[in-house]
Amino acid sequence: MKRNLLLTPGPTQIPPEICAALGRPIIHHRTPQFQENLKEAVEGLKHVFQTKNDIYLLTSSGTGAMEAAVCNLLSPGDKAITVEGGKFGERWSELCRSYGVEPDVIKVTWGKAVDPARIKKILDTHKDIKAVFITQSETSTGVTTDVEAVARVVRDTNAVLVVDAVSGLGVIDLQMDNWGVDVVVSASHKGFMLPPGLAFISVSAKAFKLVETSKSPRYYFDLRKSKEAMADVDTPFTPAIGIVIALNESLRRIKQEGLQNLFACYARLASGTREAAKALGLSIFPDESCLSNVLTAVKLPAEVDGNKVVKIMRDTYGISVAGGQDTLKGKIIRIAHMGCVDEYDILTGIACLEKVLLKLGHKFTPGVGIAAAQKVFIT
Ligand SMILES: *Cc1c(COP(=O)(O)O)cnc(C)c1O
Repeated sequence: MKRNLLLTPGPTQIPPEICAALGRPIIHHRTPQFQENLKEAVEGLKHVFQTKNDIYLLTSSGTGAMEAAVCNLLSPGDKAITVEGGKFGERWSELCRSYGVEPDVIKVTWGKAVDPARIKKILDTHKDIKAVFITQSETSTGVTTDVEAVARVVRDTNAVLVVDAVSGLGVIDLQMDNWGVDVVVSASHKGFMLPPGLAFISVSAKAFKLVETSKSPRYYFDLRKSKEAMADVDTPFTPAIGIVIALNESLRRIKQEGLQNLFACYARLASGTREAAKALGLSIFPDESCLSNVLTAVKLPAEVDGNKVVKIMRDTYGISVAGGQDTLKGKIIRIAHMGCVDEYDILTGIACLEKVLLKLGHKFTPGVGIAAAQKVFIT
């Protein structure tokens, strides 16, 4: 039987104790038992979000929480800034337009991070901007945005800072309160090692003022309803009961490990992956200055079709990595080191990548990638 190793940037692998929790018989959600689970989940999430702000649970994938942010914060005709340096940055712009907001788009070359000065420049001259939307870890390119630096330029303005931390949360540092971030969105199927279906949104008091005055149409994602329900340790609609219960296993695991230790561990996995790629004669797609510890985007030689690499690794050897999107289709592969992944998963992935690259005609000494990664892992 083939293995099924997921080195993809969502969904990620689910560890056994979480699988076991997902297999428990369902309980009803309007009960003290579920309330206990919900309370524990929200407290645990606050630890990971590094915030004292409220956190609401939505039954959707990550994009649902992004949509909730847009329709609860903005009204048609409002002004907002979006940063487009990849697919997920573009999603903020598309969501804004869906709700009658034409965003002021900051275009960033794919593979580079936004210079906070560009955001500051617009905020300085447009005092009526209500929100700035950024992506912490741009999953399509493997770029990390310096959220702290962006928060510094937004914090003391009228605008709120909204961060898509769907792929980064629990993998790289995000100090919501210390840095002064107003809204953070995330989801279950990335750093939290759960199936998709549960999204999270944390909202500061400054941002919740906008939630109360937004004129955008909203029903399912109306955060006023979420806030009201949360006061009674409840949710407005049927929550993803099973995932909430399993989330507590995930949060326990994260707490046990310690956030700083986790970040350090992912940094090592990322470093090993990057060194392996370089040893194989491949270059890293993003700029040195904004490398991601969430996933590594690797450029492939012109003669190697990235789609084939992904397909052979998955269909022949049972190891999933992600390909490139849009203009990067076939040109890069993305190896995720987030959630439930360890050194041996990465070494397995690299061993497989070596075999497939050799098969497709790329020349190098077999084993050099593994050796380079192992060197990082052993020190
Ligand atoms: C996965 C992801 C999302 C959410 O995508 P869904 O398919 O809706 O879960 C949003 N932003 C980033 C950066 C992501 O990696």
